[in-house]
Amino acid sequence: MFFMPVFDINYLLFMLPAVLLSLLVQMYVKASYSRWSRVQNRSGMTGAQVAQRLAEKIGMYDLKFKGVPGQLTDHYDPRNRVLGLSQDIAQRPTVASMAIAAHELGHAQQDQDNYFPMRIRTAMVPAVNIGTSIGWIFILMGLLLQIGNLAWLGVFAFSAGAIFAIATLPVELNASKRARQLLQSSGLIISAQEQKGVKQVLNAAALTYVAAIATSLMQLFYFASLAGGMRGRRR
Ligand SMILES: [Zn+2]
Repeated sequence: MFFMPVFDINYLLFMLPAVLLSLLVQMYVKASYSRWSRVQNRSGMTGAQVAQRLAEKIGMYDLKFKGVPGQLTDHYDPRNRVLGLSQDIAQRPTVASMAIAAHELGHAQQDQDNYFPMRIRTAMVPAVNIGTSIGWIFILMGLLLQIGNLAWLGVFAFSAGAIFAIATLPVELNASKRARQLLQSSGLIISAQEQKGVKQVLNAAALTYVAAIATSLMQLFYFASLAGGMRGRRR
């Protein structure tokens, strides 16, 4: 968030529920991750090995791997087909590692299949970056100069962020569905306990995207309320 009008109590009122939801989700994600990071997977494979195995299974032989710093920073980059795995995921043979490595392979498979929702989401990125950066500037200028249409144009540009957050959720849910199918069909999920763990880690991760939708919608509603509040004062 670039613009935090913290002097406005309404902003806090709008954002508080979303912030609380994000905190709760973060705690839940951390808790499920740490729980299943302590459980070894039955195949004894690290996240890197799982990713390698699944890449071969889907026939993606040009997939490149790289280590990324931090925790839960794992991602797949469709621009160069690079799978970034954090140290914990890459190097430890746990149920959590298996789940997250497989989720990222799910994204790789979406890329390979030209999965349409993922294509749309990727294509939206430049417009979203521009929209969310200039949106609040327009809103601020509109409010300062008392030009209602300019403020609404800003709200419109800023809505790209919320649309993007909404477009992300189905892509993420689909990657997790693919993850479970890939693990299942590769025989990497051996016990019922593993199945439960993989599901829990992936469901927790999906909630992060739900919280992101709530946050961006509340921001949008706040800006819309500012622009809406100008009505009648327009010259
Ligand atoms: Zn994902």
